[in-house]
Amino acid sequence: MITILLGAPGVGKGTQAQLAAGAHGWIHLSTGELLREEVAAGSELGTQANEFMSRGDLVPDEVMVGMVAARIESLSPEDVLLLDGFPRTLVQAKALEAASPSGSIGLALYFTAADSVLTQRLLGRGRKDDTENVIQHRLSVYRETTQPLVAFYSERGLLSEVNADRPVEDVQSDFLNTVQNALGKTNLA
Ligand code: ADP
Ligand code: MG
Repeated sequence: MITILLGAPGVGKGTQAQLAAGAHGWIHLSTGELLREEVAAGSELGTQANEFMSRGDLVPDEVMVGMVAARIESLSPEDVLLLDGFPRTLVQAKALEAASPSGSIGLALYFTAADSVLTQRLLGRGRKDDTENVIQHRLSVYRETTQPLVAFYSERGLLSEVNADRPVEDVQSDFLNTVQNALGKTNLA
């Protein structure tokens, strides 16, 4: 089953996915981490991607779809994949739908927190692209381009919202319950 993690930068998607994947043998696929590895390795892809990332812009859809599609194809039916950082655009969401076996997208988990909370967390994280100006730009790109996916998955009956402005363990407990519940439904299908 594919679980999509939706929510603004800094809301805690990576933190939650890493915890859940470690505890349950689920697969955490973070496109941001993959890109940062490419940048660190100095690959051609990394060099191109870094231009977008350092400005707080999205890496082009073709690149991102190419990166994820191969990994979707290699999934086994019993795998639980936590998709973190993808899709971020409607084009990506449609490409994911086309690449996924029918019924395999079981859940879109939407993490929410106020902008002031997000900004504080991102400044605390202190990644290279977590400077004040770049953060503001990433949040506005998120609102314009990624936020519409909330309606997209809600229309498909896949959306579940989690209040992420709480301690990590409390968010994790809701996260796990929601994934288990969705897994139960796919098993019955
Ligand atoms: P995302 O992957 O959604 O951008 P991260 O998981 O990288 O977000 O989290 C951003 C920052 O916020 C990290 O420094 C992380 O330690 C912190 N953080 C994540 N979840 C919480 C939480 N529930 N409470 C407080 N801080 C958190
Ligand atoms: Mg992240």
